[in-house]
Parts: sequence; structure tokens; C-alpha cells
Amino acid sequence: MTAAAEQLCLQNFGNGVFIRGIVEFSNVCGCDCLYCGIRKSNRGVSRYTMNREEILSAVRSGYEAGVRSFVLQSGEAPVYTVDSFCRIIEAVHRQCSNEIALTLSVGERSRSEYRRFFDAGADRFLMRFETANPRVYALNHPGRSLESRFEALHTLKEIGYETGTGFLIGIPHEEPDDFELNLETLIAFRPHMVGLGPFVPAPQTPAAAFPPGSFEKVLQAYSRIRLALPKVNLASVTALDSLAAQGRYKALRAGANVYMPNLTPADFRKRYRLYEKKSSVDAFSGWPQILEKEMSGFGRRPLWNEIGTSPMMNEDIEKINRSGISPSATASER
Ligand code: SAH
Repeated sequence: MTAAAEQLCLQNFGNGVFIRGIVEFSNVCGCDCLYCGIRKSNRGVSRYTMNREEILSAVRSGYEAGVRSFVLQSGEAPVYTVDSFCRIIEAVHRQCSNEIALTLSVGERSRSEYRRFFDAGADRFLMRFETANPRVYALNHPGRSLESRFEALHTLKEIGYETGTGFLIGIPHEEPDDFELNLETLIAFRPHMVGLGPFVPAPQTPAAAFPPGSFEKVLQAYSRIRLALPKVNLASVTALDSLAAQGRYKALRAGANVYMPNLTPADFRKRYRLYEKKSSVDAFSGWPQILEKEMSGFGRRPLWNEIGTSPMMNEDIEKINRSGISPSATASER
């Protein structure tokens, strides 16, 4: 199945891989997700929030290397006011001559916050539903519900974000049928992007002793998703490197077409530990060349200077245009 998924991916996207640079700008979090290394109750974490200049400079380093798609990710806490975060979004675009796509991954926020970020220039949003089993969801996310997670995801789509979601393979307390349920739920949502990966135990969390998710299962999930949603942007996630040597490249052979180099400066990155990470070369000097070389061993090449809009997003915009409905704004109009 992985071979068929790789074949379909090559048919749709060629051998180019979209590059999406990630900046983990704050590890301050108000949530207490059982499995997450930066959960609120983990007193062992040294908390940080990158200031505006630090964020801009991390983005700049990627831009200079040819990255045209960025993700700003953080825990879930109001570390910036909505206003000041909007100013940062605008500054990122200005600094990059409006030639980039900007994805946020900052968790559940109100509709009006999502709206304001969108109007300021955030084009895309990533938020996993983590598990489609409401019982497992509640066990892992104290005070939260699967229902509100999905409500937020639907809101993002309605506003016009290119929307990405996914789940955590091997999430603590998972039940035997959950893998199928997660896949069905994901496919039914028709996300424009998918980001899903294995659970990797994080020290000092209640889930530290749970077994990690299976690497093979992740590859199986990627293949199934590629076959069901041929044109989705499917990311090969960092957590795969914690489970297998060259895990992120191996996933490119199972249907993934997006690679996410980490642009977070080293001092902050070592404090953004969602799980036990293996060291990675991203963001050290010369990483673009190393990436090219390593990826070529898997028959693929990074697509520099491309924002990599999801073809599924373009299809949605065409559908809206054909139906005559006038959305408040679509990504292509802004
Ligand atoms: N706070 C934001 C994004 C930050 S966390 C949000 O809620 O969306 C990003 C992702 O890291 C989460 O969606 C989760 O699936 C993943 N993650 C957290 N802890 C993990 C762990 N121990 N192993 C693997 N992935 C983990």
C-alpha cells in the first residue's frame, strides 16, 4: 500500500516536496494534555516566549534559505494580545515581501480571534483533533472536549483558512477500533492539510510510561490518507525521527509531500520539548544543502521558493466561485 501511495503522490506532485519552516515561538501553555511535555503542570519546563524581533529573525533565516511557507506554533496561552500578535503576522509578511504563506498552530481560540488573525494575514491553520474517540479525548485533555475541538476546526474552514488536522497515533488510553475511527473522521472532514504522527512519551508527564505509537502504523495511516485524499498536503512530522533513523524521509515514501524543517533557535528549541526528541540538523548552518542531499537519497527534492498551496484549497475556492456564493474573503483574494 505504501508503494501505491508513493506512486499516487508522485503523479500528483512530482518528486518535489513542499517545505514548511516551523518556529516554536512560545512554550507557555494553559492546557494540561496528559501526554504533552509542555503541559501546564510540568514544573520542570523553563518557559519562554520569543519576542517580535526573535520571531522575525527566525523567519528571516528560513526566507534567506528559500523557505516560503512558515508555521508559528506555540502552547495555548495569551502570551501576546490579539493586537500585538496581528502586528507580528503583518510584520512577517512585510519582511518577506508578501511572498509567503503563514500558518498558525496556536490551539483553540475564539472565532473573533481566528478572524482577526486571518484578516492580519494568517492564511493557514493547523490543529489536530488528536483522537476521534470522545472518551479518549476527554481522558487526555482535562477540561476540554472533542466537540469544541471540532467546532473550532469548522470555524477555521468557514473563515477561509487552509485548514490542517490529524491525530496522535498511540495516544494514551487508545482503544482498538480508534485507528479506523480516526482515519474515517479525518477523511470525512476533508482537511486541506494533514499533520499526524506517533505519540512519543515525554518525561515528567502522566503519560511518560505509555508505549510510543508504532512507526509502521504511521506509515500505514499516511498511505491510507494519500489514497483517500490524493491531493491533500500531507506532512512528514518531526516525531517520526524519534522512532526511526531517517523516519521523516521514509514517510515521503508512504505518501507524504511536505517536509517541515525546524527554524526555532537552538536555545528555545531545547525548551520546546513536547516529547523526547532526537537531535536534528535543521537550522544549523548548511541545513538546506544537507536536506537536499539527504532527500535525494529518497528520490525527492525540496521545493524552494514555493508557498505550496494545497490543491484541495484551490478546489474549494473554485467551488465557491462556481456556486456564486461570495465568501467574506478567500485566501487568493487577500
Ligand atoms: N497548542 C497547539 C499546538 C502545539 S502542540 C495546539 O493545541 O494545537 C502540537 C502537537 O504536538 C499537538 O497537536 C500534539 O498532537 C503533538 N504532541 C504533543 N505531545 C506529544 C507527544 N508526547 N508525542 C507526540 N506528539 C505530541
